[in-house]
Amino acid sequence: MLRIRRIGICGTDFHAFAGEQPYFEYPRILGHELSAEVAESSGEFNAGDTVVPVPYIHCGVCPTCLGGKTNCCPSIRTLGVHIDGGMRELMPVPAKNLMRADDLSHEQVATVECLAIGAHAVRRANLEQGQWIAVAGTGPIGIGVLHFARLAKARTIAIDVNPDRLEYCRNIIGVDACVDARGETVDQLREITEGNLPQKVFDATGVPAAMEAAFEYVGHGGALILVSIVKGSISFADPLLHAREMTIMSSRNATRSDFSLVMDSLRDGKIDISTFVTHRCQFDEIAEKFEHWGNPSTGVVKGMVEL
Ligand SMILES: [Zn+2]
Ligand SMILES: [Zn+2]
Repeated sequence: MLRIRRIGICGTDFHAFAGEQPYFEYPRILGHELSAEVAESSGEFNAGDTVVPVPYIHCGVCPTCLGGKTNCCPSIRTLGVHIDGGMRELMPVPAKNLMRADDLSHEQVATVECLAIGAHAVRRANLEQGQWIAVAGTGPIGIGVLHFARLAKARTIAIDVNPDRLEYCRNIIGVDACVDARGETVDQLREITEGNLPQKVFDATGVPAAMEAAFEYVGHGGALILVSIVKGSISFADPLLHAREMTIMSSRNATRSDFSLVMDSLRDGKIDISTFVTHRCQFDEIAEKFEHWGNPSTGVVKGMVEL
């Protein structure tokens, strides 16, 4: 049994609350970005140990799991999505889904899952040093992608319609260039990349029109990595895809090795979350803060609930 200490609030929670997120059935206790303390000693864990729950409960026996892709097991049950999550004081989680995090603060631990989504997407994209990459959508997921793309020594471009978010990417993350998507995005990308367009484009917008527009941003021979997910279909022009011999891939959840990479990056100070967590509240204030934090104009990057 775990005692929950921090809960990160994310886009999935807002969309699920509004009934706009795939894979959800109701009623459901939300909460998948967690930091916890072991409530009672059992097996290799002692009471008081700080742990990060890996919220993807996978089967471990299917070909997908055996191939190492536990993040997209066909029988996956994600805490806070398919089964009840961590917006509660005590919560059971199987020991095999816990990772030790004693040397990190609870606030750092509660950002691990969110950052691991970005780490996983970057790992899938197989970036090369010096390669231009772009990230459309600079919410918490896009920010995670940008951090790990920078650590992979790619040259990074942030794309967003929100000037405050672009400012954050420039000043805090240190991206190489920013594109305001309210203007001519493709022209701006061509200018930055000397006509070539980025080789890898990540979508983290969660907006179908933006996902469709992103096909135009990918350079010839490049890849589009769809990190966001929307309900319904998205479409693209086949001649565009074909002419560029574009690879399209999705990136879903993360694996334990992504979690390890994130925790190492937090330990080494390669990622500093002091400006990532912008808003905090107490457990009994969630209902009141929740809808407010879903509004980007409030300047929320990551909201955190403290218990
Ligand atoms: Zn999340
Ligand atoms: Zn499986």
